[in-house]
Amino acid sequence: MPVTPANSDILRFDRLYIGGEWVLPEEGGMIESIDPSTGAVWALVARAGRGDVDRAVAAARAALEGPWGTMPGHERAALMRRFADLYQARAGELAELEARDSGRAIREARADIGSHHNGYHWWASLADKASGRTIPFDNTVHAFTSRVPVGVVAAITPWNVPLMAAAWKLGPALAAGCTVVLKPAEQTPVGTLELGRLFEAAGFPPGVVNIVPGYGGGDVGEWLVAHPGVDKVAFTGEGGTARAIVNVGSQTMKRFTFELGGKSPHIIFDDADIDQALNAATNSAWTLCGQSCALGSRVLVQRSVYDRVVAGFRDCAARVRVGPACDANTHMGPQAHLAQLEKTVAYIGYGKEDGAELITGGERLSGGIHGNGYFVQPTVFAGVSNDMRIAQDEIFGPVAALIPFDDEDDAVRIANDTRYGLTAGLWTGDTGRAHRVAAKIRAGMVWVNTYRFIRWSTPYGGFGASGWGRENGVEALDSYLETKTTIISTHGRFPDAYAD
Ligand code: NDP
Repeated sequence: MPVTPANSDILRFDRLYIGGEWVLPEEGGMIESIDPSTGAVWALVARAGRGDVDRAVAAARAALEGPWGTMPGHERAALMRRFADLYQARAGELAELEARDSGRAIREARADIGSHHNGYHWWASLADKASGRTIPFDNTVHAFTSRVPVGVVAAITPWNVPLMAAAWKLGPALAAGCTVVLKPAEQTPVGTLELGRLFEAAGFPPGVVNIVPGYGGGDVGEWLVAHPGVDKVAFTGEGGTARAIVNVGSQTMKRFTFELGGKSPHIIFDDADIDQALNAATNSAWTLCGQSCALGSRVLVQRSVYDRVVAGFRDCAARVRVGPACDANTHMGPQAHLAQLEKTVAYIGYGKEDGAELITGGERLSGGIHGNGYFVQPTVFAGVSNDMRIAQDEIFGPVAALIPFDDEDDAVRIANDTRYGLTAGLWTGDTGRAHRVAAKIRAGMVWVNTYRFIRWSTPYGGFGASGWGRENGVEALDSYLETKTTIISTHGRFPDAYAD
């Protein structure tokens, strides 16, 4: 629980969760966490140092080689289910922490975090299912495979959806029998640190999950990636960071999974239910203040309905209530931190410079309910061509780029003209077209007549610059397991090669 110092509204979370205990950081540092709705520090969070990373990795290794590593899968599942129940009971509180820390609108945070326990239950159901196979051979040997945990996992998460990103790593890692050292982003560490309370209350053996807030490059993140005691890095974030992680982590041949964002095409054909498509397209441009890798930030619209869709976006933008994250009335909160706000504002400038037509929005909001917070208006650009910077780069702000297209081939060509390949959506009334276009789009997940339907059971991850491997689904479980082949002689004899 946080400790509130006298005469201060700033909460203190002054301990790390290592080896099942709440410990002070060895170097004693604190991270200032800013409430992006106000621009002011709202929490001080324990900052791990190198010694703490060593302690956390050692605790994770000891748990792996001790109680957790020897625990039958059904017992691990029972602990995970207990954790899931505790998570459900505290979901409202966790949602408030995340809204405060990240600026995510509380109504979105409640809906999302209120469902995470289902994911943990689903992962628990897989904890005793990792089986191998028997390999047919002649009758001199019996050959079989078994699936064993990869080992100690460094889970490095981003600031946009810290609890969801943690769930997508903890769920499969624990189901596979791995142990975890979890490092949240420096901007939003609070909710993740509180997960330690739930693991403790659920009765997990010490060291199975360790939580070490700290900084990334040249600090806790990099030390974890370099650490010889870590076997795998599961990372969500930026492509440049992933390349740095590969460089450092490859020195010790770590396993990697990377979820690195996208620039998803959201295609609206003229035979679609346009009102439905507009609901989805506007929502998927502005949810999370545009800070989600799966958002349909490139809206591809057939020319015959282009003007109608542009007008629909403009009208909808006028209805979006931008305000403090913890206000239940708020549709869209602020950007999660100042650097992200500055990035978004810079890209709005690039959109204008590159010749796109600003239909609505484009300004930072301040004063009144927006105070010094990191708010920006929902923004719509029309007349966008796919080579513009606002169509090629992941902005991570509430900026919709509306790109016209002529026909099916044109739509597919534009959709695939990107270095990313995470998700895509298409709206059509023609089932044949739905299949044709979905098959041609290079993306890890394609939605037809819906958008951003993502569950723990549906594999999620990208082609190209969007990353390596998959989170969610049984595919994610695979990435936390090694295959081990055992061959046993059935006759017990090995010929002497040097007998004659
Ligand atoms: P980063 O990739 O820098 O941060 C993600 C996580 O990696 C954080 O926990 C960070 O720690 C950590 N980290 C940073 N450097 C290293 C390193 N060298 N070794 C190990 N860990 C490291 O993302 P940013 O916060 O800089 O966001 C920049 C852009 O990335 C966004 O604008 C967006 O476009 C994209 N992004 C994509 C996300 C997605 O969901 N795919 C999520 C977040 C960002 P610390 O916080 O201390 O830096």
